[in-house]
Amino acid sequence: MVIKLHDLYFKPFISEHDIDEAVKHMVDAIATDLGDEMPVFVGILNGSFMFVSDFVKKYPKPCEVTFIKLASYEGVKSSEDIQRLIGLTQDLTGRTVVILEDIIDSGNTLEEVHRIFKNENVKQLLIATLFYKPEAYDKDFKLHYIGKEIPNKFIVGYGLDYKGLGRDLPDVYQLKTTQHMTNIVLFGPPGAGKGTQANFLKEKYDLVHISTGDVFRYNIKNETALGMLAKSYMDKGELVPDQVTIDMLNKEVEKNADAKGFIFDGFPRTNAQAKALDELMDSKDSQINGMIALNVDDEILVERLLKRGETSGRADDSDEAVIRNRIKVYYEETAILQEYYSKQNKFFGVDGVGSIEDITVRLSTAIDKL
Ligand code: AMP
Repeated sequence: MVIKLHDLYFKPFISEHDIDEAVKHMVDAIATDLGDEMPVFVGILNGSFMFVSDFVKKYPKPCEVTFIKLASYEGVKSSEDIQRLIGLTQDLTGRTVVILEDIIDSGNTLEEVHRIFKNENVKQLLIATLFYKPEAYDKDFKLHYIGKEIPNKFIVGYGLDYKGLGRDLPDVYQLKTTQHMTNIVLFGPPGAGKGTQANFLKEKYDLVHISTGDVFRYNIKNETALGMLAKSYMDKGELVPDQVTIDMLNKEVEKNADAKGFIFDGFPRTNAQAKALDELMDSKDSQINGMIALNVDDEILVERLLKRGETSGRADDSDEAVIRNRIKVYYEETAILQEYYSKQNKFFGVDGVGSIEDITVRLSTAIDKL
């Protein structure tokens, strides 16, 4: 689940379980190297408190644990911040000291650590960091133990904060690079009113409406290769092949790179399409917030579509057999998607019979809860 801290959104990045594995590996490596020597583990506050706690609980031999804190003196420009380590009171002469850091990015803190320990006459100073950003590190100090290398993106959780929040989270989250979007799948059989409702909802929520049926019809009208291919399927009320539809949908989304979100209408219609949509949203650091289905009785659908056929000019709306086939295809191939989204607690059904305004209100209520 995406979380919000102050003004920013973060997505799950490293699970509690994976962090635990990384800590275990570090413990094993350090315990093996140090043998019977009793180390002093020095955590750098505040970020390392969780890591140090988990680390020393797993450490198989006796050890000492202490903390130091990096204090910035205010009153100077942040680029010139003078930072000092405070809290080092113990005599560490002749000891093996292992610095436990939650994260090393630029290496500035590490530089300060080395400066402080230069005069401590320790036997050896080892650096262990749970997370390491190789792209950001511009110092030469050796890092003896690394839990996990990560890309140069801002993270929170497991001791790390964003403006004071997030330290308590057991998992690590990564800053989302794109703006927060609201993405809705409008679902329901042909004739349920998806297109009509999408037109109201896109205005109300400032979303981009993508109807795959409309895009296909546009291509047919303009006699493109895609249109010609799609037409053979649409005329029979069958689904256009997945890969063709998915490629087209990806292009439509790319055309609207600045959108605050999308209303997908008529897509996804198969499991493969639903998976492709999840991947696409993931690549945009986003997700589908929910699928909202309009429920309408079959006979009402047939009646509505025949009536629409009198004015829409759509070939697939004028032939009752084709209409019934589209409804059948919906129940046989598409309705299974209810399960796909239900499993993620993202499925919401809405009564699709009544006045257009009433149905818009019902849909808005569902959307506002997402
Ligand atoms: P619609 O306007 O949503 O009722 O779609 C009309 C026709 O376009 C459908 O009967 C299919 O032949 C085709 N079509 C629209 N969307 C899709 C999709 N996601 N996957 C496959 N075929 C589609």
